Amino acid sequence: METISVQWIEERLDGYLRDTYKHLHMNPELSKEETNTQGFIQQELDRIGITHRAMAKTGVCAEISGANPGKTILMRCDIDALPIEEDTGLDYSSTTKGVMHACGHDAHTTIGLAILTILKERKNEWNGTVKIMFQPTEEAQPGGAKPMIEEGILENPKVDAAICLHTNPFLAPGVFEMKPGYMLANTDRVYITLIGKGGHAAAPQQGIDAIAMAGQFVTGVQNIVSRQTSPLDNGVITFGTIKGGTTSNVLCGRVEISGTVRTIKTETQDKIASQLEVLLRSITDFWGGSYEYTFSKGYPASWNHPELTDVLTKSVTSTFGDQSVVVNEHPYMSGDDFSIVASKVPSVFMYWGTGSSEKENFPWHNAHYHVNLDALKYGVATGLHCITELLECEKVGQA
Ligand SMILES: [Zn+2]
Ligand SMILES: [Zn+2]
Repeated sequence: METISVQWIEERLDGYLRDTYKHLHMNPELSKEETNTQGFIQQELDRIGITHRAMAKTGVCAEISGANPGKTILMRCDIDALPIEEDTGLDYSSTTKGVMHACGHDAHTTIGLAILTILKERKNEWNGTVKIMFQPTEEAQPGGAKPMIEEGILENPKVDAAICLHTNPFLAPGVFEMKPGYMLANTDRVYITLIGKGGHAAAPQQGIDAIAMAGQFVTGVQNIVSRQTSPLDNGVITFGTIKGGTTSNVLCGRVEISGTVRTIKTETQDKIASQLEVLLRSITDFWGGSYEYTFSKGYPASWNHPELTDVLTKSVTSTFGDQSVVVNEHPYMSGDDFSIVASKVPSVFMYWGTGSSEKENFPWHNAHYHVNLDALKYGVATGLHCITELLECEKVGQA
């Protein structure tokens, strides 16, 4: 199939893209609860005339085949929103209090539907099968990719390669970013309780101050990444919550801390997991307190198949221009359960520029996060181009 230009998509589908995006953006649903979103996708697929089946309770797999048999390519579009109160002031803001599409999954769903529309219209111009994985529950571990794989999305027909486009507010529309090898990080969670002994604030020697223990722990933790793992390995430890104490004149007997650990290499991940506990043990020993510690492994680091990443980088730049792909040097320390798909079939995760030049861009998971609607057509053009490139690529399906 010949490449569909951005201009053609704008002329034919811009209204559809904007309306679909706005509908989804105004009606966000949390992970595991995407029933209306699922219903909307199913209704759209019926209208376009695409075969589909429900998977992982609130997900959908759409499948379409071209003129002749060939390879099978999967594109993942996640569909869930976040527990955030939207504060963008947009006239198509969320109508559900406390729930917001603040990661762009509404945009992912929109381009998935538009790509299927074009594939259907041009069914006679391409060979093979395309599956679009409308995946629920990316934002809440253990995630929706795993159950969709367990229910067979990668089989019958067997998926030969997969791609994923994720919005990026710090890239301009028309710019995509990818790299061979590790693209995203291991995303693990830690839950810690420091247990001391309450007492009078004026007689700390009679109790065990959990806030003092927590203070030493929190400042000591950064020595793990700066001194005990290689400066050349990526590692991040961030505590997002710390809770303890009841009032100013009572010695605090218990502090609860939660956080996230991001790494690329398994050995760094293991080292941080064990050293966090060594530090906890030594500090609580010193004070005579005790601790509880849980290191909960989350999504694994996402690996981009080097050869296919190279194929797509060259093909996108030769079609859409030298400026259309940025090859980033380092992985991002964010995570995504597309990594589970990538661990099963050769895959490429890429960022898709959805930033605005006229106003400030905010990061993912922020109440001000917004997607530039002018970027939707580029997502459709590049997503579709990558799918057709892989359908025709001789390096795909050899394994
Ligand atoms: Zn997210
Ligand atoms: Zn996301």
